[in-house]
Formats: sequence, C-alpha cells, structure tokens
Amino acid sequence: MEYFRLRGIGVSPGIAVGEVHLSEGVVFTSRKNDIKPEHVDRELKRLDEAILKTEHQLKKIKAEIGKKVGTDHSFIFEAHLFILQDENLVSRIKTIMQEEKTNAERAISKVFDEYSEMFRSIEDEYFKQREYDLKDVLSKIYLNLESDKKLERDDGKEKILVAHDLLPSEAALKLSQGNILAVALDIGGTTSHTAILARSLNIPAVMGLSQITRKVKDGDTLIVDGTNGDVIINPPLAIKREFESKQKKYDKYIRELKKTARLESQTLDQVKFFPLANIELPDEVSLAFSMGAEGIGLFRTEFIFFQTKKLPCEEDHYEIYSQVAKSAGKKPVYIRTVDIGGEKNLPQMNVEKEPNPALGLRGLRLSLKERGHFKTQLRAILRASAIHKNVHIMLPMVTGVEEIEETKLIIEEVKEELTVQKHKYDKNIPLGIMIEVPAAAAISDNLVKEVDYVSIGTNDLIQYYLAVDRSNEDVSYLFKPLHPSVLRLLKFIIESAKKEKKDVTVCGEMAADPLSALALLGLGLTSFSMNPIFIPKIKKALRSVEYKTIKKIVEHGLNLKTAREVEEHFLEKVLSKHPKALLVAEEY
Ligand code: PEP
Ligand code: MG
Repeated sequence: MEYFRLRGIGVSPGIAVGEVHLSEGVVFTSRKNDIKPEHVDRELKRLDEAILKTEHQLKKIKAEIGKKVGTDHSFIFEAHLFILQDENLVSRIKTIMQEEKTNAERAISKVFDEYSEMFRSIEDEYFKQREYDLKDVLSKIYLNLESDKKLERDDGKEKILVAHDLLPSEAALKLSQGNILAVALDIGGTTSHTAILARSLNIPAVMGLSQITRKVKDGDTLIVDGTNGDVIINPPLAIKREFESKQKKYDKYIRELKKTARLESQTLDQVKFFPLANIELPDEVSLAFSMGAEGIGLFRTEFIFFQTKKLPCEEDHYEIYSQVAKSAGKKPVYIRTVDIGGEKNLPQMNVEKEPNPALGLRGLRLSLKERGHFKTQLRAILRASAIHKNVHIMLPMVTGVEEIEETKLIIEEVKEELTVQKHKYDKNIPLGIMIEVPAAAAISDNLVKEVDYVSIGTNDLIQYYLAVDRSNEDVSYLFKPLHPSVLRLLKFIIESAKKEKKDVTVCGEMAADPLSALALLGLGLTSFSMNPIFIPKIKKALRSVEYKTIKKIVEHGLNLKTAREVEEHFLEKVLSKHPKALLVAEEY
C-alpha cells in the first residue's frame, strides 16, 4: 500500500482517520446501441418509467432530507424536480431516440454533451452551477433505466468519502446519514454547497486535492485534517498514531470549547461581552447557539438570490426570515439586506459587467437602484419582525447620510403598505448600517446619529482602507487588521457609536482572530460577530483577560508605527499578563 501526503483546502475543521469509500460519479456511455424501428416505442416507455421512478425518488429524498438536515438543503431536490419536468429536456432525449433509432442511455449522454457545450461558453458562476444539477438529474434517470442497477446503497459502516466531486443531491444524502467520518474531494472550495453542509454537520472536509481519486482505492486508510487541509493516504503506523492522538486532543479541545459556550461571557474584571454568529443559511442557527452565540449578528441573505433562476418573491424571503427569527427565539437577529452586485453578479438583475466591480453597483447602491426588489426584501424582513420582535435591518456598503435617508423613506412606504394590507410588523424595528467604506468610517460620528446601531465589516473596510483586494492571494500579506491606521479608524468608529449610546459590533473575520479580538476589546468593543465555529475560541480568549489591562496595552499600540510592531507588542504584553488568553489557538 502506497503512502502519500496531499495538501488541499481545509473547508471544515477536525481530524478523522478511517477507511476510504470511493464514490464514483456516473459516467455517461457514449456507445451507440442501435435499436430496430419497431422497438423505439418500447425504448421510449423504458425512458418514461425511469423518469417516473426518478420523480418518486426525488420526492422521497426531498422529504427525508428536509426532516434530517432542514428545508434549506432539501431545496435542491425541488430544483431537480423542476429540471425533470422540463419539457424541452425530455423531448430532446426522445427526439434523439426517435431520429437516431438509439437507446435511451445514448440519448441521455448526447443531451448531456449538448448542454455541457452550452454551459462551457457561459462565464456566469450561477449558470455554471446549473450544469451540475442537470448532470445530477440525468444520472439518476440513467441509473434508473437499468432495473438491476440499483442506486448505490449505503452499508451504514463508518467511512471517509472520497470523490472527484459530489453532486448536490449526493452531498445532502450521504452526509446526512451519520456514518461519514470525513470528506476528501478532487475539486471544490470553501463556499461550495458540500463545504457548507460539512461545516454545519461538523464533518471534517478537505477539497481541491486534484488527484485524490486516482491515488486511493476502497479500503485504503486515510487521514483527513480539515483544519490544515492535509490528507495522508495509507500512513505508516507511527503517523497514524500521531494523528489519532491529535484527533483525540482535537475532540477534547472541541468538547472544552463547547463547555466554554455555556459559561458567562465576561472578562476577568466582569466586563460583559456578546459573542454573535455570522450565518449564511437558516440551518446554521442551531449550530450557532450550540457554540455559544447570543444572537445572529449577521445573516447574509445572498444565498436566497442564488438558489433560483428567477428572482425570489416575498414569500421566498419571508419563509427564510421567519424560520431564522423563530429559531432564534428571544435572541437578536440582524438581517443584512442583499449585498450582491460587483463580483457577486446576478444574471437575474441585468446589471452590466463593470470594469471595477468592487467599486461598482453593489450592496445598498444596487438595492436603491432596483427598488422593487429592495421593497420585496424589506416587506419580508418587516413581516418576520412581528414574530418575536427580535429582527434588525442592516444595510451593507453605505457611503453617506443620503443613502440612509432614502432607505428610511422606502421603509416608511413599505410599513404603510403593510399596515393597509393588515400585515403585522415590529413598529420599532431597529435600523443599522455596516461600516465598510472608509468614507462612512470617517463620518461615523454623523452616521450613528441616523441609525440605531452600526456593525463594522472589517473584511471590506480593511480592503478599501488599505487598498488590498481581500481575495487576491498576491497581496494578502498586506491585509493587516492590526495596522495602526486600521486600529485608529476602528477606535474612532467605536467611540463615535458609544458617544451616541448606540450599539456597535464587528462582524468581519477580524473578530474571529484571538489577538485581533483582544485588540478590539481594548478599543472598547464588546460585541463580536463571527463564523459560529470560532465563537468558543474567542469567548475563551476574552474570558481570560482583564479589560482594563488590555485597554492599556492597546492604547500604547495605537502609537506604534507598523502592524508588526503592534503585533509584537500585543503578543508580548498579553502573554506576560494573561498567559492563557492566546493558548486557545494552539491547544491541539
Ligand atoms: C465584511 O465586509 O466585513 C462583512 C462582514 O461582509 P462580507 O464579508 O459579507 O462582505
Ligand atoms: Mg462586506
């Protein structure tokens, strides 16, 4: 057995050691099996039966997944049912069968090739993803054509799933069965559907391994380290033992962190702080609370727009917001109005391709231009606010007071319409903005007067302030949250909000890094919103320090000249005063 090490992208943390189960995707045959003209009808009937069988399977899977992992993940099957019912698709398969006197398998294969060709010429990511769904549906019909070729059955044994990629339905089905220890894929990345699902189910996963399916076979031993992105095939005993012990430590570390989730959120000198969660899917709410979140500090609503070909209607929005508002109970939920545009372009919106998307029509700018859609979203948010009165409206990419004034008028209009239509809503629903544009930061003392709260989006704020593209690897070394200029700017925003007695939160990635979170605490911040998996770690760091000590350390840091000096100063001082505060990150 050959021993290999591979490096990919760790998309869901944790370590697993187990046996490989290689999941092979359906390969459509290109072999042409001629059929006699008098057998065409029989072949068409065989196709119809396979389609019917596929429809029953999809409906059954949809109901099962809805129960097991939530309606968001079962939505895929709804989309697949639509594809199955697409008249053009089925009639194209039938036409090929009739004209070429060929078997159904060959016709499906040909149709898939035709559509793939078309998808290849499309640049848009949303439509590219649809090729996947189409393949998913066609492969189900394909497998159902052979009565003796059953859809892969699971034996229930624990295993590590290895595949080139997982079709959305495969991911939902397989990962929800409870016996998948980890996932390792040739392709994919952090934002893929499988990655999101793996994270919400706590299954370690590494993607982007490019060749793993060629290097392993069923039964091989595999180590998957989803935290670092390492995958080891058939490790020698010593390495296997090393990782098993690492896995134990990691599991213990997670158990400890989860205990932290139940502890009081306060510093050693009793300063209360609020860990909140950033989520992208309604199903992440329960994970967030199990990690100790005291509210949903940022609900990114973009996915609602990415899940259908058409623009979502009010009910699509309402169903999701009401689900989140209900699951949160009395805890606060900050719903951010859609932040699309720019590189997250949506074909449904008909926005021209922009030369400089990061500086283009994104976030609130686009919403104010496309008022109809903006009002639809606001109506749904307002209606969901009636349930527990825990909903907040949050506006992304605000640059100036005028945008807030304009939005307020639209909200008033929407409220009046809802009143006339006898819909309930929270009349005092709080309105807040994200501070992500340097201009907004510079006038935050004025902006806070216009709203009920502010939330600092450090991902974008640092990108624009330091002129560093947040997704460009080549300049990532310049993306420095501890740059003295950034700290001074953050200080100004936090103090401006406090002066007006308005709540202020940081919801960028900065809040999820222990050293940066301590820096924010020292600047007077007490509300931190982050990916739920980081909450226990940050909570532990903040609980291990004295606010007044950190405040002094940070005050001195503000006068240093470089990010490096700041970092060294923080590390040295924090470690000498509170040696345990930063241990959390390296504990396993
Ligand atoms: C941010 O910019 O910091 C933020 C939280 O928003 P997003 O990452 O969704 O742009
Ligand atoms: Mg942002």
